[in-house]
Amino acid sequence: MIDEQAECGDLAYWMERLGTELDEFQKFDYPDALQNSANWQAALDSDLPKTGVGIDTVVDQLSRWVIPNGSAITRPGFSSFITTGPVSVAVLATLAGAIAAPQRIGLTAFQYLETLSLAWLRKLFDLPESMQGIYSSGGSVANLVALGAARQWAFERTGTDPAAKGMNRPACILASAACHRTVHRAAAVLGIGRDNVIPVDVDRQGRMRPEVLQQRLRQLQDTCLPVAVVANAGTTGTGAIDPLAPLGEIARQAGVWFHVDGAYGLPGILDPDVKPLYAGLELADSVVVDPHKWLGAPVGIGTTFVRDRGLLQRAFTQGASDYLEGTVSRESARHSLDDLGVPFSDMGIELSAPCRGAVVWALIQEIGKEGLAARVRRHNAMARHLARRVESHPNLELLLEPTLSICCFRYVSGQYGDLDELNRKIHRQLIHNGTNMPSTAQVNGALAIRPCFIGARTSFGYADDLLDEVLLVGQQLCDNLRQSINQ
Ligand SMILES: *Cc1c(COP(=O)(O)O)cnc(C)c1O
Repeated sequence: MIDEQAECGDLAYWMERLGTELDEFQKFDYPDALQNSANWQAALDSDLPKTGVGIDTVVDQLSRWVIPNGSAITRPGFSSFITTGPVSVAVLATLAGAIAAPQRIGLTAFQYLETLSLAWLRKLFDLPESMQGIYSSGGSVANLVALGAARQWAFERTGTDPAAKGMNRPACILASAACHRTVHRAAAVLGIGRDNVIPVDVDRQGRMRPEVLQQRLRQLQDTCLPVAVVANAGTTGTGAIDPLAPLGEIARQAGVWFHVDGAYGLPGILDPDVKPLYAGLELADSVVVDPHKWLGAPVGIGTTFVRDRGLLQRAFTQGASDYLEGTVSRESARHSLDDLGVPFSDMGIELSAPCRGAVVWALIQEIGKEGLAARVRRHNAMARHLARRVESHPNLELLLEPTLSICCFRYVSGQYGDLDELNRKIHRQLIHNGTNMPSTAQVNGALAIRPCFIGARTSFGYADDLLDEVLLVGQQLCDNLRQSINQ
């Protein structure tokens, strides 16, 4: 008899039970989690169990109380953040990795797919062949890893190893004023400092202005060592793509690392209509993309590509540790544990890490470049379709022509003085109604309703539905206002 109380097998049975509940969840006809939160909190609230209840009861509780009260993010009408429910094959590959290869080390098929899928992503997005990648937990860490390489490069050129010795002079980063805040956090973690991320003004379309970058670089003189210029291939707020070619040229001439944050927008290059906007991507020293956004992977997968992975090793190595290296022998590889394989754990900030490559491989393998391109084109077309409908309606105003799959617009009415307030109320009502759930954004000083179409489950009907609902709710709010004035 084994002296272990946890069930460690029988997956076919347990997965079938759980799968049934998950399919039920994906009909999306449960009420919102908060509606009956008193019930599920009461059911789940319990003291630390002294003895366990057993897997059967746990699966029961998952099915009954946890899954049905999950997130609205996976709903097809959800268009708020740039996050979405994963496609099925990516969930299956995640599970496969968790069971069959809990770590990315060793000469396994999973590690092979780590490398193969990175090469596929590089080809998919037309990145230079010399670029090599590494997975991490998402855009936040992917940006940190890229900027760690940038810092390494900038300081090595002055004769110091910043990762080993620390920085011997102040450093700074020049970034689009519309860049993601994770760039600031990366600057903080790397010892550069959030306040030393110098914002570069954007134009009314949200694109970094090359002449301002040039000016900022000149103004630096010798006050700080510029570690990187950070541009966007698809800002999170509006989907703006910076003019990469002139920005990359300026960075190169100034001898500064050029980083492109494409966490959301890099897959946009698959849409022939917007592909020309990515000209200059080949000038990048590092590029980031999040498979857990447009590609439909479960949350927890970001990717950094750099033009020299040696820099990553110098920036992030943790050095040899007996218990790891002691398990391998360099003489021959007759067993998957004779060699750790590609030393990914020395190129980023994670030692233990799941096999994310198998997930990315699976989601590309399932539908190919064409399938992914069709999704991206569909979502971009939905944003443009919304824009045309908005333009043709007297109560709607387009605040920004869409670049990718984000459309920023607002409801307008002569009756309502404060349009920001009106649109904030419309937005709240939409969220509470729970079918069409966009977010809001500030666009040139105005509050915009901002759907971002990103989920594999969403399609044209949802774009039309969203607009119809905005019109209905906007009209109701204005009617209510008129009635309250007349009373
Ligand atoms: C989402 C996003 C990030 C952050 O990525 P996470 O995966 O949420 O950590 C960084 N940059 C951009 C442009 C993004 O859209």
